Amino acid sequence: MANDKKMVEDITSMEEDFAKWYTDIVKKAELIEYTSVKGCMVIRPYGYAIWENIQRILDGMFKETGHENVCMPMFIPESLLQKEKDHVEGFAPEVAWVTHGGSEKLEEKLCVRPTSETLFCEHYANIIHSHRDLPKLYNQWVSVVRWEKTTRPFLRSREFLWQEGHTIHATAEEAIIETEKMLNVYADFCEKYLAIPVVKGKKTESDKFAGAVSTYAIEALMHDGKALQAGTSHYFGDGFAKAFGIQYQSKENKLEYPHQTSWGMTTRLIGAIIMTHGDNNGLVLPPAVAPIQAVIIPVAQHKEGVLEKSEEVMNSLKAAGIRVKLDDSNNSAGWKYAEYEMKGVPVRIELGPRDIENNQCVIVTRHNREKTFVSLDNLAETIKAKLVEVNEGIYQKALENRENKTYTCTTIDEINAALTEKGDGFIKAMWCGDEECEDKVKEMTGAGSRCMPLEQEAIADTCVCCGKKAQHLVYWGKAY
Ligand code: ZN
Repeated sequence: MANDKKMVEDITSMEEDFAKWYTDIVKKAELIEYTSVKGCMVIRPYGYAIWENIQRILDGMFKETGHENVCMPMFIPESLLQKEKDHVEGFAPEVAWVTHGGSEKLEEKLCVRPTSETLFCEHYANIIHSHRDLPKLYNQWVSVVRWEKTTRPFLRSREFLWQEGHTIHATAEEAIIETEKMLNVYADFCEKYLAIPVVKGKKTESDKFAGAVSTYAIEALMHDGKALQAGTSHYFGDGFAKAFGIQYQSKENKLEYPHQTSWGMTTRLIGAIIMTHGDNNGLVLPPAVAPIQAVIIPVAQHKEGVLEKSEEVMNSLKAAGIRVKLDDSNNSAGWKYAEYEMKGVPVRIELGPRDIENNQCVIVTRHNREKTFVSLDNLAETIKAKLVEVNEGIYQKALENRENKTYTCTTIDEINAALTEKGDGFIKAMWCGDEECEDKVKEMTGAGSRCMPLEQEAIADTCVCCGKKAQHLVYWGKAY
């Protein structure tokens, strides 16, 4: 039992130090390990299995909406990166360069892709000539490199895994519909499969992607009241097409510029899961992406029949499509409870000699530690129902946290008072649309603009900062 205590003591409580709590979980739950390259991490099997589940579900949603996967090279020649002015300005400060091949200096240096718009554009210019070549609905699953100064596992790393969708359309209307469609796919994914409530919105001018006409994002609120951008979808207009000379012959035989989009989600989502659902006993995983959905812990496993019954139960759950693990190691039952709580396994099944005698088992749900005795008959159905219940339970908890930490304010003083008295959270306040006011709000409160929600409401007539006529409702907050 001394062992069990140590595991829990080993993580700092989130109330004491949220940042330390986060890194403790990332390490203790065996999601990552640091490497000798700053900001680059090993995603360990348990962490990678979460990513694989995210990937599988998202990829299905992309294909369902007509997208095909492709794979671009990882190097971008300097001259190609420089073709779109805003884009290169945005990314140049954090680009890693390759200057040598072996001992030979390259004639033109190559950047390691920070994102792949320029590569897609070069490719489009080669393959798009006629309206019959449009649209192209592409996605790729790759890693990208951004030379960040401060790094944190999953949230900000120099190399990270992601998907980047890139599409090209004959008309602006089509491209705008695509941008919004993928924002909705992202929001649905987060809410349904990760149990993370999100706000869908549009970024302000100063906060949009380098080279985009408009950027949409989904914003989530973490347990500590800080915002996290969970996914973005950009509309590019025909700016990239013009910079890269992509043109097509229309039905009317005219040369036209096509319109583009891109959209991305990253391993950041794993950080979002940790900070939305985790608690002082460790991770709490949404069932849809949990590598292990149910763990069977045999109690008094040396007693006759216990392990046999446990295996039988495991096989029946497996056959029903549940990701299940039987831990028949020699560790104590108490140690195992702490271990799988740390790893956020949604449902624990305890099975001992007396349970078997009574044709029952104990199930404990991770997020609320509720204990119930259930029959071994139709156990798979019972567990499936429990997983749905867990998903709803953690979603409601996250939603409640967000509602409790969302403050409606009409003056700067109100914002500061709310943040001081109630702690970090989303601030809902009106804005005149002036960049100066946007900067000033951040300077005076620490809360930056997160997004202008698609569902606009008029909570006041005037800008929270200057008192002039308000144009938009904005969600403000401190962010990861
Ligand atoms: Zn203003």
